[in-house]
Amino acid sequence: MAKYKRILLKLSGESLMGDQQYGIDQQRLGDYAEEIAAVVKSGVQVGIVIGGGNIFRGLSGAAKGFDRVKGDQMGMLATVINSLALNSALLAQGIKSKVLTAIRMEPVGEYYSKDKAVEALENGEVVIISGGTGNPYFTTDTASALRGIEIEANVMLKGTRVDGIYTADPEKDKTATKFDKISFDEIYNRKLRIMDLTATTLCKENNLPIYVFNMDKKGSLQRVMSGEDLGTLVHS
Ligand code: UDP
Repeated sequence: MAKYKRILLKLSGESLMGDQQYGIDQQRLGDYAEEIAAVVKSGVQVGIVIGGGNIFRGLSGAAKGFDRVKGDQMGMLATVINSLALNSALLAQGIKSKVLTAIRMEPVGEYYSKDKAVEALENGEVVIISGGTGNPYFTTDTASALRGIEIEANVMLKGTRVDGIYTADPEKDKTATKFDKISFDEIYNRKLRIMDLTATTLCKENNLPIYVFNMDKKGSLQRVMSGEDLGTLVHS
């Protein structure tokens, strides 16, 4: 029996690069699709939000001279590109998925609404919610918090490169220790930046727990779903 019935999985754009410097690594994409397919086949309802950092980020664009709003729009379009790539990779695994977009762009994807997303989930389809929030100055972490709350997911699963939340950056500080559980208040008090504050606060105020885990270790998603304590749970 899966631990959660309905999940919102957040994947960063950067993780789709694999060992590349830019863009989409086919192998990594295929690995993710395989992991997701296994969970879907076990009966879990899966909503996904993907970032766009492997292609474009508004903030770094602005540092190079782009208008910030245009840059953010480019970033949002990057998330649509990644979502279509995952949509196609899931199809190759025999899994039906639907790309919804926060910005109208039929026929690339249907315009997002909660009702459409929930209907597809209830029909056993994976829903990939793209285009971020549709607004500049937000991140895809905030978009996944928002969509997770809207679709009434039981948890937001944040797939990262690290095993969970540590007292300090484990790549820099060897004495850092991992939390199995941590409250939202402790995240603020310790100034841990697992996500931006907007995203964290949205989850806290709407009681959406976050589970941070390493998505790059094969089988992790399934292990999390079967209740193993691999990562860190952020709770109220
Ligand atoms: N973005 C935005 N509004 C949103 C979500 C994303 O403007 O609601 C833009 C922003 O420029 C961001 C880019 O899309 O830098 C890619 O998203 P993000 O940086 O969150 O991707 P990730 O870090 O997860 O790869």
